[in-house]
Amino acid sequence: SVRVRFAPSPTGFLHIGGLRTALYNYLFARSHEGGKFILRIEDTDQSRYVEGAEQDIIRSLEWCGMSVDEGPAVGGDSGPYRQSERKSIYNAYAEKLIEQDEAYYAFDTTDEIEQMRERLQKSGNPSPKYDYITRQSMKNSLTLPQDEVQKRLSAGEEYVVRLKVPRRESIRFEDMIRGHVSFESKGLDDQVLLKSDGMPTYHLANVVDDHLMKITHVIRGEEWLSSTPKHMLLYKAFGWEPPKMAHLPLIMSPSGGKLSKRKAEEEGIPVNTRDYIDLHYEPEALVNFLAYLGWSPGDDSEIHSLEELCRLFSLDRVSKGGAVFNHKKLLWYNEHYLRSQSDKMLANRLKPLAEAHGVELTDHDYLEQAVGLLKERVSRLDELIEMGLFFFRDPEEYDPKALNKWKDGSSDLVKQYRGKIEKLPESDFAAGTLKKTLEEVIEANDVGFGKLMMPLRIAVTGQGFGPDLFQSMELIGKDVVIRRIDTALE
Ligand code: GLU
Repeated sequence: SVRVRFAPSPTGFLHIGGLRTALYNYLFARSHEGGKFILRIEDTDQSRYVEGAEQDIIRSLEWCGMSVDEGPAVGGDSGPYRQSERKSIYNAYAEKLIEQDEAYYAFDTTDEIEQMRERLQKSGNPSPKYDYITRQSMKNSLTLPQDEVQKRLSAGEEYVVRLKVPRRESIRFEDMIRGHVSFESKGLDDQVLLKSDGMPTYHLANVVDDHLMKITHVIRGEEWLSSTPKHMLLYKAFGWEPPKMAHLPLIMSPSGGKLSKRKAEEEGIPVNTRDYIDLHYEPEALVNFLAYLGWSPGDDSEIHSLEELCRLFSLDRVSKGGAVFNHKKLLWYNEHYLRSQSDKMLANRLKPLAEAHGVELTDHDYLEQAVGLLKERVSRLDELIEMGLFFFRDPEEYDPKALNKWKDGSSDLVKQYRGKIEKLPESDFAAGTLKKTLEEVIEANDVGFGKLMMPLRIAVTGQGFGPDLFQSMELIGKDVVIRRIDTALE
């Protein structure tokens, strides 16, 4: 049965490109009966290791609702799932390749390799490689006498293990998204498999683990496509059947080009999954949005839960071309998932946020009603606070832009309106009456609606935007509304 893996390197926080790769693997696993989704931490590059990155990856997947079947936190039969804990396995496999004459020890220092490159560059070779030709003049177990090799090894001299890349070979494979792919071995270095610190490179560890973990499909970003021929050579050298390959299209910036970290920042697009968590995005929205970033079910439908996506997903509907990150679309999804929650649920989620703003929410009923008025107007949960603080406290300052309009003589209109609503009995202090009263005032003065509406909104809420004003006034209540108008008129 299907086994796929998400294999991030813990070199930083999980970015949205990585999250999409995880999602497609997850959806693929769940769209097959008995399919398994495996998390493998590729942490062999110690110099790029970032503390806390693994926890960030696990937390991000959990937040999105993707459950891991096998991985460092949950275990499984193919563990350990952290490559740094599998060092001896890679060593054994590298030795096996040396025995089979598919790989070799190389003793050259970085200086010596640099000299070789310079020499060749001077003689007209623009991109010299450590390859079939140059390896003949370098210090390795293919050129040095056997006893010399043994002597160096037992003296503890530093070495790397390199793959013997064939001189001329077309490396072909079928990619489930890109179709037929072919590379020439001529352009490849003799890949380093084991580094001088004894750690494997990405290529060796990745291939050995995909094989040992019985991965059936490798689904990863397009940036790894150029590594695949190297992996194919390794599978062949080991005599293993390679998994099926699927390289996902790049995520593009709205202004064109690959959505790099820098580009994303320039365009105000949050890069890391944790940013979306911190900014109070709805996980269902991010999941739905990312699913459509390079895939679609082939009809007009747009809204699907993770569960539905698991049923709908298939690799043959993943596009080859780059997928443009449309932030507006993400916000559209976010609004949808925000509004589909009950006022009660949103009110519960809002409480800790409001408290962080110093607002004590004691009257839950009142809070729920405020949420009901606000939720159609915002894109994100935290904006409910920003827009709705006035439900809980009198304005301390007034939106300066809106205040200017207020200064153009309309305070007289506000005064008239105040006089009328003050006479309303508490029981008739309701949205309908409040609106009717406003209409009376503007008609009597023969002015436009906005002439009174805007200053009134500023007086009551402090800001020039917000939910329905009459319903808001009804909820806030007569005493408070009158008090706020009086303060504003002072
Ligand atoms: N460790 C690689 C990464 O960081 C894995 C690539 C692959 O899936 O083979 O994305």
